Amino acid sequence: MKQIKIGYIDTVHGECPHCNEETLLVAIVTDFYKCTLCGEETRQYVNGSIKYLKLDDRDKKFIQREKEIDEEELKEKDGKKER
Ligand SMILES: [Zn+2]
Repeated sequence: MKQIKIGYIDTVHGECPHCNEETLLVAIVTDFYKCTLCGEETRQYVNGSIKYLKLDDRDKKFIQREKEIDEEELKEKDGKKER
């Protein structure tokens, strides 16, 4: 199940592991969020409470792949590019 849809942005409030601030995090792909303060990407980790972790190389590759899949799906749906 995809979290990202056109015209809908999933945001959460949490503590960013990069800038250590309480900040607004924007979903980029499922379970991964981007800090609106420092722009770094984090992984949501749920274990009783919700934490946000820094990404390792595997996470980065996963995000890259997910983004590409999303873009391909959008192109197929729309048949045209917006912007
Ligand atoms: Zn941050």
